[in-house]
Amino acid sequence: TARFLDGRAAAADWHAELARESAHILKVAGRRPGLGVVLVGDRPDSKLYVTRKREACEKVGISERLVQLPDDCSIGDVQRVVGELCADPGIDGVLVQLPLPPDISEERVMESFDPSKDIDGFHPLNMGRMLMRGRSTGFVPATALGTLRLLAAGGVELRGASVVVVGDSNTVGTPLAALMRDAGAASVTVVHRTSYSALFADALSPRLAAARVAAAACAPRVPPGPSQAARAADVREEALEHLAGLPGITRTADVLVVAVGYPRLVRASWVKPGAAVVDVGINVEGGRVVGDVDEAGVAGVAGVMTPVPGGVGPMTIAATLHNVVASARDRLLGPREVPQVEPLGGLLR
Ligand code: NAD
Repeated sequence: TARFLDGRAAAADWHAELARESAHILKVAGRRPGLGVVLVGDRPDSKLYVTRKREACEKVGISERLVQLPDDCSIGDVQRVVGELCADPGIDGVLVQLPLPPDISEERVMESFDPSKDIDGFHPLNMGRMLMRGRSTGFVPATALGTLRLLAAGGVELRGASVVVVGDSNTVGTPLAALMRDAGAASVTVVHRTSYSALFADALSPRLAAARVAAAACAPRVPPGPSQAARAADVREEALEHLAGLPGITRTADVLVVAVGYPRLVRASWVKPGAAVVDVGINVEGGRVVGDVDEAGVAGVAGVMTPVPGGVGPMTIAATLHNVVASARDRLLGPREVPQVEPLGGLLR
């Protein structure tokens, strides 16, 4: 069975390194690294992530300034707060907790950042640098950075690997694909919803599957089944099995990263024996947090896995703090004065 990578332990090691570096910065430059956080509205998941970051900042010795805005604020309000935090000389990095309310353009908010304080790396300048080979500076989005560090800590070799990334969001899948390429993967394949839209619609929407069952039940030749819910589940299962392309692609992966936001999408038959499977997904199901990978099933096939919870999540928070400390170091000490915390041997900032 698979060896599980312990994200909590790896994050604790990282925090300890960052705490040492943060203390050094305080000693030499006379102030702690500073993080500014903007939280819009009161989504419980966003509040939880902000709280987690705040607790981690305390551990590491980063001072944090949180600005909260109501759900019905305007994009101008968010941009003004971002501008104020970016202009604060005691703050080395600023982040806006995503997602924003639907009528506020995340893109325009990101564009209003000072790129030198954009520690999430979502400003087009930082995204652009990350997508270019041989970039010299720039911030790397935290989930991608945290994932790479977790794989490195777990001894997973990326050089020469066939990597498949399921999901292509700007925040997770796309940065991960670029960094896997830079880490020496032989190939990186990105799969995303639009590749298979019709099939996904059927397979992934229990509501659609239920509608199909209901339609079938009205047809004269179909005898009434046991319970409609159970049959809807069957249809969904069948549709998933018939996703012709996706399992065929995921089975080619030496390293499979799943960042979709659909509970237990990836099952054992989708995974090459011995592969490393990284589960980025965070889904709440019946009060429990589960990933995008069917953990129990896949553990019987994979060589290495990241658990949910306790895998990529804690590493993402540590990576955010890493970016703040790196920014403070560059800003206050110049890039060379402190032994650098380099997650991947100089590959990343
Ligand atoms: P998103 O909704 O922005 O993007 C989802 C991506 O999945 C899209 O690219 C979409 O095309 C693709 N997709 C949807 N269904 C698919 C399918 N069946 N097959 C292939 N691709 C499919 O989500 P996101 O922000 O990238 O987050 C993804 C998941 O990761 C969520 O569960 C989120 O909560 C989680 N997440 C975890 C962390 C962490 O620290 N662990 C950080 C960020 C996000």
